[in-house]
Amino acid sequence: MTASSTSPDAASSSSEARRHAARRLLQAGIDNAALEARWLVEHVTGASETPGCWTPGMTAALEEAVDRRLAGEPFWRILGEREFWGLPFRLSPATLEPRPDSETLIATALELLGARRQDPLRILDLGTGTGCLLVTLLSECPAATGIGIDLLGEACETARTNAALNGVAGRALFRQGSWTDGLDGRFDLIVSNPPYIPSADIATLDAVVRDHDPLLALDGGRDGLDPYRIFAGTLRGRLADGGHVLLEIGAGQEEDVKAIMREGGFIWLESRCDLGGHPRALIFALH
Ligand code: GLN
Repeated sequence: MTASSTSPDAASSSSEARRHAARRLLQAGIDNAALEARWLVEHVTGASETPGCWTPGMTAALEEAVDRRLAGEPFWRILGEREFWGLPFRLSPATLEPRPDSETLIATALELLGARRQDPLRILDLGTGTGCLLVTLLSECPAATGIGIDLLGEACETARTNAALNGVAGRALFRQGSWTDGLDGRFDLIVSNPPYIPSADIATLDAVVRDHDPLLALDGGRDGLDPYRIFAGTLRGRLADGGHVLLEIGAGQEEDVKAIMREGGFIWLESRCDLGGHPRALIFALH
């Protein structure tokens, strides 16, 4: 042990504990060590950091969190929560971490809806995961209702928790299933951030994604495009008159996804780029 790694038992206050955690994170080469240490301290104190209220239990919890971080676990997984569109979303092993790139889909949807945001829209979110897309849209569209579908019951549970956490539980329904199988009704807006990584590329992904995001949420089949083929073949009957389909895509998939959807009778209207300048959200309609 070096002089800088003071024994955690000596951490008599949260600021001392925070400095100790920051030093350990920094020594391990973590970029935002100071910020992460601050957030981890807030996490173990339940976000109410009151001087003088630091307990040995909190020291132990912080040490454990830092140990997990040093073992390579993503910061947000340790927190068990990640922010999306300024809203909190709980994570579970069955769900992808919501990513800022997917906020492109939300911005695009809201722009597309314009004044219709106030209407009693029906929204469908396929492969809902944490529910981040549906819950965010419902929080932005006060009269809308929606259904989120996921293959995993555990993801549906997490999404329900997130709907409640963000005050939209009364307008959101989550159901376990495979895409639109057995689903009736038509929707004004259908959104999806499907698994779109080609199976063979999974092994080459950043370890943070590969080892901690669920495979099911990543793997889009041989060429990564399987979910879009399903959408092209099934969404026609689920779209209301004047409705739109908004799909997130991965790197280099824009032309392929446009072609697949065109074969399903959809018209491509527009593509929107993420903050990195890559086409990320594609808008489709039927007429
Ligand atoms: N819809 C969720 C999200 O955008 C889950 C996506 C997924 O699991 N591929 O984060």
